[in-house]
Formats: sequence, C-alpha cells, structure tokens
Amino acid sequence: NCNVAMEAKLPKENGLNGHTGIMFNDITPLLLRPGVFKDAVDIFVERYRGMGIAAVAGIEARGFIFGPAIALAIGAKFIPLRKPKKLPGEVISETYVLEYGTDCLQMHVGAIEPGERVLIVDDLVATGGTLCAAIRLLERAGADVAECACLIGLPKFKDFYKLNGKPVYVLVESR
Ligand code: IMP
Repeated sequence: NCNVAMEAKLPKENGLNGHTGIMFNDITPLLLRPGVFKDAVDIFVERYRGMGIAAVAGIEARGFIFGPAIALAIGAKFIPLRKPKKLPGEVISETYVLEYGTDCLQMHVGAIEPGERVLIVDDLVATGGTLCAAIRLLERAGADVAECACLIGLPKFKDFYKLNGKPVYVLVESR
C-alpha cells in the first residue's frame, strides 16, 4: 500500500491554465490507472469504515472524484461543497482568504443534520485555508467533523496537520 501511495504522488511541472513553471500536483494520472485509483480509495475506506461517519463532504472540484467513492464504500451520504452560484437550492456560505483575494464555499441548507459525523475530502492540502473554510461551514450547520482527508499534503505548510483542532490525514507528501 505504501508503494501504491507513492505512485499517487505525481508532482509535475505543468502549464496550468496557460501558466508555465507553476508547481502543480496533478492527480489525474492516478485516475488513469484503475488499480492505483482503487488502492488510494481503499486506504481511505479502511481508515473510515466503522467510524460512524454519516456524511462525506467533498470540496469542488477534485474532492468530487474521491469523496463519492469513499462515501459509497462506507455507507455514508455525499455532500458537495461548491463554489458560489453552483448549487440551485438555499445555501449557507463560508468565505475565506486566499493569497490574492477571497473565495467561498457553499452547501445546501439541510444537507447535514445537527450532530452528524462528517469526513471532509479534497485532493490536496496546501495552506489549509480551503479545509478550514469547509470545517467552519459544516460546524455552523451543526456537524461533528471527524477528520479531513487528502491524497496529497504539502509539508512546507506544517500547520495543516491540525485545522481548527481537526486532524488532517494525507496519503503522501509532496513539495
Ligand atoms: P489550500 O487552501 O492552500 O490548502 O489549497 C488547497 C486547495 O487548492 C485545494 O482545493 C486544492 O485542490 C487546490 N490546490 C492548490 N494547489 C494545488 C496543486 O498543486 N494541485 C492540485 N490542487 C491544488
């Protein structure tokens, strides 16, 4: 499993959105290898099965790739945490600060029942700002956040291992 997780660490120099020279950790090659994709999901499933997790909340967009697979395997519901103006129903919002400007996550009102135990999933944690916003959003709705789970963590942002007092579990570390 350790070897498989290392294969998931795919740091690449990519030209992302026309920008070159940006260090972007791309998880899409992992998705092209069903065995590796499954092993990555299975590591999370083994960790979270039987923990009384009622909901998996995935962060747009790459949290939508892994979150539902984990949710189905552990018998939890899936809650999408989306960027503004994507969800059609009534929402609650949480704004957070980025290096340049702000961003916002939204969740449907009623997606979570007060006291329900939630796992938050994304592909990567860097500064932890996005996960912090997700934790705040879910806690405002009364959720009991068990943990955050990401495939990749950037250890230069050491503080992400505990966000708002919540643990963050990562499969691999990248630069
Ligand atoms: P943070 O809020 O600084 O922890 O940044 C994490 C968020 O930005 C997550 O939603 C990631 O999907 C996204 N992100 C930041 N850097 C990368 C990267 O190198 N690869 C993939 N996603 C990234």
